[in-house]
Amino acid sequence: MTSGLEDLHIHSSYSDGASEIEEIVQRAVSLKLKTIAIADHFWPSMGSRKGGANVIEQRRYEIETCRNDYPDLTILDAAEVDIQSNGELAPVAGGLEQFDLVIGSFHWFTDSTRWASALVKALRKNEFQILGHWDGYLSSYREEDGKIAAEALADSGVAIELNGRYSVEHTGFLELAKSCGCVFSLGSDSHDVNTVGSLNFQVKLASSMDLNIMKIKQ
Ligand SMILES: [Zn+2]
Ligand SMILES: [Zn+2]
Repeated sequence: MTSGLEDLHIHSSYSDGASEIEEIVQRAVSLKLKTIAIADHFWPSMGSRKGGANVIEQRRYEIETCRNDYPDLTILDAAEVDIQSNGELAPVAGGLEQFDLVIGSFHWFTDSTRWASALVKALRKNEFQILGHWDGYLSSYREEDGKIAAEALADSGVAIELNGRYSVEHTGFLELAKSCGCVFSLGSDSHDVNTVGSLNFQVKLASSMDLNIMKIKQ
């Protein structure tokens, strides 16, 4: 059941995805998704193939063409950007403000304490709206760090992503985050048109835990 869903994390061939933007959009329309975010990596973030203002402009032009051709689908022009160990987000040519949505993600393995510390620093800058695959690169988890992270996420309103490619190992953190008032988002992290909207497990998890899923303004 994907009809009416939002899939806020999809890679196109502009980064490490295999599919063209129009194929992704056609698939989302056929699945009757409500909103998608084309969220590519741009150099120097991990997984980027390309960077530079011209590439980002060209990608935006393709997104705008699809918006005109498929007006019933909301298509967000998004980026997935590395949260670096010093808490800075990796730069993108032209800045992060140009995107409708920014996903900040850890792409380096870290223990729980360094994770929480880099995350808190990154959240202070107010540059991203979703924490991508929050535990995908966590080598350890301590509840004290989880509490620090969850409180900072709740204060900033940044959503915790339930990601289609990474299994959730530390469900205790989700309970903690829920109790702190955090919001959550759904993202398949699709790298191929066939996995667009693949969110069954995440939707069930959100519903069984009664998690508050962020709403995108149309
Ligand atoms: Zn990622
Ligand atoms: Zn991704």
